[in-house]
Amino acid sequence: MTPEDRAFRDFAELSSDWFWEQDAEFRFSRFFGVSPEKLYRAQSDFIGRRRWDMPIAGFTAEQLAEHIATCERHEPFRDFEYTATGLGGVLQYYSVSGMPMFNGLGEFSGYHGVARNISNLRLAELALKESVRQLSQLVDGSPVPTFVIDAEHKVTHWNRACERLTGLCRNDVLGQTYAWKAFYSEPRPLMADHVVSGAEEAVIAEHYQTFSRSALISDAVEAEAFFPNMGESGRWLFFTAAPLRDSESRLTGAIETLEDITEQRTAQAALEKLASRDGLTGIANRRCFDEKISLEWKRTRRDSQCLSLLILDIDHFKIYNDTYGHPAGDRCLRQIAGALESVLFRPSDMVARYGGEEFAMILPGSNREGAAVVARRILDRVAELTIPHSGEAGGHVTLSIGIATAQAQTGMTPDGLISSADKALYRAKEGGRNRFIADHPQVG
Ligand code: GH3
Ligand code: MG
Ligand code: MG
Repeated sequence: MTPEDRAFRDFAELSSDWFWEQDAEFRFSRFFGVSPEKLYRAQSDFIGRRRWDMPIAGFTAEQLAEHIATCERHEPFRDFEYTATGLGGVLQYYSVSGMPMFNGLGEFSGYHGVARNISNLRLAELALKESVRQLSQLVDGSPVPTFVIDAEHKVTHWNRACERLTGLCRNDVLGQTYAWKAFYSEPRPLMADHVVSGAEEAVIAEHYQTFSRSALISDAVEAEAFFPNMGESGRWLFFTAAPLRDSESRLTGAIETLEDITEQRTAQAALEKLASRDGLTGIANRRCFDEKISLEWKRTRRDSQCLSLLILDIDHFKIYNDTYGHPAGDRCLRQIAGALESVLFRPSDMVARYGGEEFAMILPGSNREGAAVVARRILDRVAELTIPHSGEAGGHVTLSIGIATAQAQTGMTPDGLISSADKALYRAKEGGRNRFIADHPQVG
């Protein structure tokens, strides 16, 4: 054996490929470097036989005919793939490339080439295909609106339920990166996009007011939001996006499920409204007032602002009821409530029915002078209503107002503020009614 031959033999032994030779009739004559671990068959099975005489498969009839024709034309061939049942009955995948050999006279003398066992590669590909197929079945068969994007943010799945919810057909969105069109009028990342990008919480918070890590699915993020462009008058959706990873934990995409919670939200909002409204006048009720004043109280302290409270009481209302009857009294209460609502300017202002014919008004950020302006406006507006009241000196329904203003630094409590306004109201009644009186300034 020449040193070159020995080197060649050693390389062949070390390589994961092996080398073969065939005679001019394409019959295997020699192998180098092939071990049973690589071939998964006995070499002797091959010697003296053509490749296509063996029980091989894994190609179409055309592919085999093409391969044989190439060999018969004595041309090189590359990566011809086939399968054969190996030792232990396990299917093996092979890839083979060959070069024709010619003797000194230029006559074809056979082939030699390399071969490789590619079973692991092909089986991994098959497993991947299978998992993709299973994911498709899962997503497409689910009644839950679901879509999947890959690591490039391209949509790979968009199920029927998702089509129905969003109105966007899968064919219009598959392979595209504009799934946002189903939800928004302008481009912006969806939750699945955030998951694929590995977005920081601060970035997600820029897009969703409230979101949380799922307690159920690891690394999943969920949120609730209103989508004004969806459906006739917008939809509320609850959505969860979870990362998809391969066996090496590499991120391959994200799956997002959507739940239409519009009806729940509408019912909840109606209930909340019902629970916070006064049945007779439709304005905020006492419960709502209590919540509002404690909320505004905290805000006032935090922002070092002031807060004014007005308590309003209809004058001689007992006589009104006695004179005109209770139903007329109710109508009068509704009119007064409407008048009170109409004087409020700021979104944070609020008027509530505090008791029978008493109302309370919260004016966050208004000082004593501001509250007095509002009180003046109220008296004028009620006067404009000109609701007849024979028991009043002026012949019309009037009311009296007590005002209390708290400064953030005074340390007064909401209860203190209410009782202060009550005292001022009492003084307004004492002073002749149809007027407003402010409490004494609070000293911090
Ligand atoms: P004052 O000027 O001192 O406030 O006199 P007033 O008669 O208004 O005082 P009082 O608090 O004694 O009377 C309140 C009356 O309001 C008693 C009740 O008949 C009437 N009232 C309370 N709630 C309602 C209601 O829901 N509907 C009607 N129609 N009347 C109510
Ligand atoms: Mg009263
Ligand atoms: Mg009264």
